[in-house]
Amino acid sequence: MSEPETVEDFFGVYLLYCINPKYKGRTYIGYTRDPNRRIMQHNRGTWAGGAHRTSKKGPWKMVMIVHGFPNNISALRFEWAWQNPNKTTRLQHLDLKKIPRKETEFQFKIRVLSEMLRVGPWCRLPLVIRWLQKDFYQEFSPERKPPSHMIFTDGPVKVKNLKKVDNDMATTNFIECLLCSDYLNSKDKLTCLNTNCELVTHITCLADLFLTPGEFVPIEGKCPFCDTKLLWGDLIRKMKGCYQAAENCLIVDNDGDDDVVCSQDRKFVDNESWFLDCNDDL
Ligand SMILES: [Zn+2]
Ligand SMILES: [Zn+2]
Repeated sequence: MSEPETVEDFFGVYLLYCINPKYKGRTYIGYTRDPNRRIMQHNRGTWAGGAHRTSKKGPWKMVMIVHGFPNNISALRFEWAWQNPNKTTRLQHLDLKKIPRKETEFQFKIRVLSEMLRVGPWCRLPLVIRWLQKDFYQEFSPERKPPSHMIFTDGPVKVKNLKKVDNDMATTNFIECLLCSDYLNSKDKLTCLNTNCELVTHITCLADLFLTPGEFVPIEGKCPFCDTKLLWGDLIRKMKGCYQAAENCLIVDNDGDDDVVCSQDRKFVDNESWFLDCNDDL
């Protein structure tokens, strides 16, 4: 086995292949800043920070990864498009809704990838297409070769990210914020309103993304992952476990101050954080 190549500031989108005989041939596409840690999480299950869809279906092999994205948002958008080619405007003409009979799920994913690398904005990025498992190597169709500035390579990779990730976290119950890649505890974990979207992020990370200059509390924004339009109030309600659970979920208690209370569990919500919709400029 060759020595892993060290890559700095790693943002990658990977393809998993299921080798469990019961689910053999299933694939999964995900985003990571550390492929070696991520594959361990997938194979350990959700308690280790793996995704629901991969949990209890392993073992999985991370067969290839595309890296070289300038930042997390760019990689997340790529991930979403690869997962949802039929919803991606840039790929609409290809009619990639269903896997054709003659193709396996895996071959289909590789074909979608080869198409994605040829259209903007991705065709302009300095991407590296890395086969982590040589025995899975698939040649791109000769007419669908990616732009010549992209690099094809194989072999393991070791990441060296500027922001250090605590090693202890890797072995314990660890969820990573998709925007900053730091540890995320369930207390400040925000998820998308689109139930098919796997966005998990710190409140503050998404708030930073949604805030426009001069604003103190975000009002709305688009999910960096799936483009769903999100109202900040709805996100917070979902986080408190009462989105769509009760009609008038956030109510103001009537002792005159501005404390916001969730009617579902009557839990006090911290006034100083992001829970108040301070639309009026203070
Ligand atoms: Zn974060
Ligand atoms: Zn989303």
